[in-house]
Amino acid sequence: MEEKVLVTDIARFSVNDGPGFRTNVFLKGCPLHCGWCHNPETIDISPEIFWKRRLCVQCGACFDACPRQAVNPPISPEHLQEQASDYFKIIPGRCDRCMKCVEACRYDALQITGKPMSISEILDEVEKDRLFYDNSGGGMTLSGGEPTVHAHFSEELLRQSHERLIHTCLDTNGHCMWEVLEGIAKHTDIILFDLKHLDPQKHYELTGVRNDLILANLEKLCSFPVEVWVRIPVIPGFNDGIDYHKLAAEYLLGLPGPIGRIDLLPYHNWCQDKYGWLGIDWVYREVEAMDPGLLEVYAQIYREKGFTATVGGSGFEEMKKTGRMNKR
Ligand code: SF4
Ligand code: SF4
Repeated sequence: MEEKVLVTDIARFSVNDGPGFRTNVFLKGCPLHCGWCHNPETIDISPEIFWKRRLCVQCGACFDACPRQAVNPPISPEHLQEQASDYFKIIPGRCDRCMKCVEACRYDALQITGKPMSISEILDEVEKDRLFYDNSGGGMTLSGGEPTVHAHFSEELLRQSHERLIHTCLDTNGHCMWEVLEGIAKHTDIILFDLKHLDPQKHYELTGVRNDLILANLEKLCSFPVEVWVRIPVIPGFNDGIDYHKLAAEYLLGLPGPIGRIDLLPYHNWCQDKYGWLGIDWVYREVEAMDPGLLEVYAQIYREKGFTATVGGSGFEEMKKTGRMNKR
């Protein structure tokens, strides 16, 4: 039987995750726990449940269906309003994710995040956008979560994409064994490598892991025959100072090989609903989205060092300007 991995989304027509129009495939599972994560449903490798409060009519069917008393009893809409920040449908410690409650819900208020998909099922979806790749120089971007968690699956998915002449990007945090990244990079046209912070302790505090392995992998990738774009999520209070970006520019300049491009990705909080649906109290909830215009100052620091740098990571504008099409 074909191996399957949980996919949280296949997002079409992205213009910020590699050249041209991209189809982004999000795999579930990540070894990092970044405080600002925009896709919190991709961190846990197992299926999870979204509870969409606005769709819930408090009918109680989920409460009746649960064999583990892991669902809170229904409450009146008025009571729900009063307890807006406290009441959540699922009681996490008791739930074994049997999903009987989801099956019982007739209002779509409970939804499973993560659909098991095989490589051929994913590629059949990706293929639907081929016309747009051909016209824009786009292709598939494998993202997550962290695709290297599913080492063999990701490598094979990218290899088969190349067999079908689909351009490939890998969006990675770089926290994996070099052998895994090396195997995957062989079938990837562009690696979109996340660089979150150069300081190991700061990196640990906001992501849950030190950056030693990540930096070592970035250095090795630069000597490997693959194009590397570095992506820096700019997070308020974490890596948003001019001095930090001067330091980062020096570091990137000192790498053993070229960096194709640097994308500065401004923090935003559009994902806050997802945290609510998972019943997670998000520490960044009150933090305002960054004005992308403010990041131009940082982008200029990298440009002065000779790098191509963008704010937001649009791959489409560059393609329009240069008329460059990808090799495949
Ligand atoms: S079954 Fe659905 S609509 Fe009914 S209480 Fe549960 S989540 Fe809400
Ligand atoms: S997934 Fe199963 S155990 Fe968890 S709350 Fe739903 S019915 Fe109960």
